[in-house]
Amino acid sequence: MAQKLSEYRRKRDPKQTPEPFGEKRGKTKEPIFVVQRHDARRLHYDFRLERNGALASWAVPKGVPLEPGARALAVHVEDHPLEYAAFAGEIPAGQYGAGTVEIWDHGTYELVEEKPNGQLTVRLDGERLQGTWTLVPAHLDGKEENWLIIRRRDEDDGRPVDPRRYRPMLATLAAELPKGK
Ligand code: MN
Repeated sequence: MAQKLSEYRRKRDPKQTPEPFGEKRGKTKEPIFVVQRHDARRLHYDFRLERNGALASWAVPKGVPLEPGARALAVHVEDHPLEYAAFAGEIPAGQYGAGTVEIWDHGTYELVEEKPNGQLTVRLDGERLQGTWTLVPAHLDGKEENWLIIRRRDEDDGRPVDPRRYRPMLATLAAELPKGK
């Protein structure tokens, strides 16, 4: 776990930010999830699942999709320490992720399915989020970090997901402004 958190720690100075650094180990039986609303340079929602003693994490710019069948870009980011699930507060200006973090939802989850490619289907038991979501390593725009998070219909649990089906619906990031008028 210490190894997995090295990138997380590299980006932060414990003297400059109140965020946790990952010293403790979690003791809950059921794995937890948390969604943090992070009003940073760009507002986004951080979706985190307890996995292997840390929080696997995705930044979801548009928020976790709520309607069955709806999907959203989920950018896979570095694991965060388990204690981050309880973090809310201000990350000071000039620090990594500077801005305000609020806990938007939290609870436990059940792992419904895990595929060799990393795709995860989870049933969330939160206060706001109740139901099944799939995280798909869809490599949107050829980028490994660009996953999709899809709200499943409950009867869809475990059915295969074809990420290509969803591509035309997504906005994509561009490095440059379009040319011409
Ligand atoms: Mn964030």
